[in-house]
Amino acid sequence: MDTKAVDQCIWCDRDEALEKVVREIASFPTGTLYLHRDQTHRGRCIFAYKEHLRKITELSREQYMALMGDIHTSVSAITKALSPDKVNILILGDSSEHMHIHLCPKYRDGKQWGVPFVVDEAKPLLLDDAALHILVDRMKEYI
Ligand SMILES: [Zn+2]
Repeated sequence: MDTKAVDQCIWCDRDEALEKVVREIASFPTGTLYLHRDQTHRGRCIFAYKEHLRKITELSREQYMALMGDIHTSVSAITKALSPDKVNILILGDSSEHMHIHLCPKYRDGKQWGVPFVVDEAKPLLLDDAALHILVDRMKEYI
C-alpha cells in the first residue's frame, strides 16, 4: 500500500478538511455514511469505506456483500426520509482513491432527471450547518 496517499486522504484523516465537504450521519460495520454539503440533489450522501482500499477487487466477495448491505440500508434511509424517485449509486475513485460511494437522490421534477449525476456541480447548493443538521437528524431516524 502507498502510505503517502493514505497520509493525504480526507476519508482516513477525518479532520476539518472533511468537515468542509460532508457531515456524518451514521457509522456502519463497513464504513460511514455522510451527508454531502452540496445539496443540489436533496439528500446527496457519500458512503466511505472503513479502510483505505482503492478498488472493489481489493475486497473479498464477503466484504463486498457486507458493503452492499450497508449501501442498501443507506439508500433505504434516504428513500424513507426524502422520497426521491430514484437514487443514483456511483463508485468512481478518480479524484479520491479511497473507496467511497456516491448516493445521489433524483427527483422527477429535479435537476438531472434522466441523465447521469454530475459529481462536481458548477454552482453547488451549499447548505449552512443548521440546515445540514436538520437533514442529518432526519436521515438518522431511518437507520
Ligand atoms: Zn483513505
